[in-house]
Amino acid sequence: MTDTPSLAELERRAAERGPVYGEGAHIVCDNLVRIYKTDGIEVVALQGLDLLVNPGELIAIVGASGSGKSTLLNILSGLDVPTAGVARVAGADLLTMTAKERLRFRREQVGFVWQQTSRNLLPYLTAAQNVELPMRFAGRSRRERAIRAAELLGLLGVGDCVARRPEELSGGQQQRVAIAVAVANEPHVILADEPTGELDTATAAEVFTALRRVNEELGTTTVVVTHDPQVAERVDRTVGIRDGRTSSEVRRRAEADGTRTAEEYALLDRVGRVQLPKGFTEALDMRDRVRLNLESDHVGVWPDQKETE
Ligand code: ADP
Ligand code: MG
Repeated sequence: MTDTPSLAELERRAAERGPVYGEGAHIVCDNLVRIYKTDGIEVVALQGLDLLVNPGELIAIVGASGSGKSTLLNILSGLDVPTAGVARVAGADLLTMTAKERLRFRREQVGFVWQQTSRNLLPYLTAAQNVELPMRFAGRSRRERAIRAAELLGLLGVGDCVARRPEELSGGQQQRVAIAVAVANEPHVILADEPTGELDTATAAEVFTALRRVNEELGTTTVVVTHDPQVAERVDRTVGIRDGRTSSEVRRRAEADGTRTAEEYALLDRVGRVQLPKGFTEALDMRDRVRLNLESDHVGVWPDQKETE
């Protein structure tokens, strides 16, 4: 039997470690807060959200409407500025960057795909011209732009749509062209806010396959906000957001026999907070305080006895 170190000893060791949070991660959110103020009323959209995404990962973010998913993506894309905390994407600090750096960051470091197909593409440009546009802003040569646009549209399975304008494309084709636009300047990160939300199931699957292909072939770190259980099913990690905080995580693995297994985790923040699922606290009528017990390989959580008697 192994001896369990004392709590004091464990705390001393934890203080000694003190690593840089999120070192090596491509996306780092540490205690991220976003408060909106409208007519003197404050809405806390993000209340201390922690999230790490590794280079090359493809993750899904799920959560009820109003839980803060779009707020998070808008911050990570440089469109919105957080109120407090840390947000870093590919080394860029989103709280301290200047307006000029922010513009550059949005043009070169991140690609964005919106839910509304009409918001992603300019209606009067062809698919190829839409993909070339961000490369023009980045100062790439005409020849380079044309070659890359054709390559990307081919990779995304819409190679036959190069000369068509958005109105001549289906919703699914428009979203795949939008993904090509998003990765045109080889960004480190792609952020997609419910990119399949307006599509039927079969088309949504095609668009997700396209995102996955970009992630695999180009190695772009990808974060997809989705309501679609099918999409969440097909990523290796799904992060759940509740009330402006990351609360749970499902990890999926391919087993040797080809089946996929999923395991659900609660997230533990750096100061040791865990959000217990509502189903658990309600089942045992846990409120206000719980008793904790450190065992050799787990921590027990019990309802406060006085409350339950
Ligand atoms: P989700 O994308 O998960 O549905 P949002 O990030 O859009 O959630 O919204 C989170 C919370 O912040 C909601 O309560 C929403 O009403 C509020 N909110 C979002 N954007 C704004 C804004 N521009 N002004 C005021 N409140 C906002
Ligand atoms: Mg949203």
